[in-house]
Amino acid sequence: MSAEQAVTNLAVLGATGSIGLNTLDVVRRHPQRFRVKALTSNSKIDVLLEQCREFQPDHIVVVDPVAADRLKQQLNIEGLASEVRSGAESLADIATLAEVDVVMAAIVGAAGLVPTLAAVQAGKRVLIANKEPLVMLGGVFVEEAQRSGAQILPIDSEHNAIFQCLPAPEDGLWGRSGSLEERGVRRILLTGSGGPFRDRRFEDLSQVTPEQACAHPNWVMGRKISVDSATMMNKGLEIIEACWLFNAAHDQVQVVVHPQSVIHSLVEYVDGSMLAQLGSPDMRVPIAHALGWPQRIPSGADALDLFAIARLDFEPPRPDTFPCLVLAQEAARLGGVTPAILNAANEVAVAAFLERRLAFTDIPRLIEHVLERVGAQTRYDLETVLAVDQEARTVALAY
Ligand code: NAD
Ligand code: MG
Repeated sequence: MSAEQAVTNLAVLGATGSIGLNTLDVVRRHPQRFRVKALTSNSKIDVLLEQCREFQPDHIVVVDPVAADRLKQQLNIEGLASEVRSGAESLADIATLAEVDVVMAAIVGAAGLVPTLAAVQAGKRVLIANKEPLVMLGGVFVEEAQRSGAQILPIDSEHNAIFQCLPAPEDGLWGRSGSLEERGVRRILLTGSGGPFRDRRFEDLSQVTPEQACAHPNWVMGRKISVDSATMMNKGLEIIEACWLFNAAHDQVQVVVHPQSVIHSLVEYVDGSMLAQLGSPDMRVPIAHALGWPQRIPSGADALDLFAIARLDFEPPRPDTFPCLVLAQEAARLGGVTPAILNAANEVAVAAFLERRLAFTDIPRLIEHVLERVGAQTRYDLETVLAVDQEARTVALAY
């Protein structure tokens, strides 16, 4: 690091999850470069306490008020000065603090929508792992970033790969840098491993347990995204995410099943060139890319051993194996609030599956049921999408 390198002040929303822990692991390797100003968690105060001891952030949000009080007491006992707030409404305060330069959005699900949008509206550099808010309201994220000057850098490994394979945008936001065609891009190829059930027929999966669904062959992740990977809903959500981030039409994004998870995605140009980004299946690679951007900084991840990998395979996704992917592709085509309905129904279905109240094979059935019952809206704004999200959850819970 050069002597004049400014210190970057960081807020991590969802600091105690898989992405949060990986982020702090990269940050810990660059103590001169990053200062952790704020951390949030839903309720995991044991992990937060460790993080407070190590990083000494000024601000903490614990959404659960009882857990927040317990953390406050423990910090007092240890003489640690972090200020603790509670309640979901405090998340947006943390995301917009004047002293914060970069916000890592790593909450899971729709719960991240309001704080992540607030960070964008406040003109921060926002590193987005939390894909569900982009699925719900990506068009507003792009508009608000244009207005505020916020930079949105993708952390999702595929989108980070695409970002690396596209011509560099001067302003850090591809969505406002012209269309794909203007950049000579023919299409985006979104790779996915196919998860643990790639070779199975969907109707044979009714007895699958949460443990089996969460045992991803290549990646270690939070439970919700692990189930989404097993159904390939994750890839469906990622199509919608890619459309907003890169100003792509839904039919310019093609899914490629690539079981080794070595190529994280590709961009095909009109001249026939294809650019790919390769790397170990380790989220610290895209996290370090975005934290350091436009510079490169060490991530702690192992380099790829191409001789050990030896071969790379590709196949099209089979619709009879991945009905959730088909539902998401249709939602991407319809646009408007339909992706938000899909997302809410999926969140309820995945939670029910993880609590063993719903069979794995009923996940797409529940989502289809909700999509048939919750009506499309002409408006597309935060208020409408939050209302649609609530309505879809109510219908899903009554399934
Ligand atoms: P996780 O379950 O491991 O962690 C989620 C974090 O969000 C935790 O800190 C938790 O305390 C917090 N949280 C949960 N519910 C909350 C609520 N209602 N309000 C406020 N905070 C809440 O999840 P993860 O795997 O780290 O994923 C986070 C996001 O990143 C997801 O949107 C996921 O799709 C995306 N993502 C994750 C990976 C990965 O490798 N884990 C890869 C790509 C994208
Ligand atoms: Mg991904």
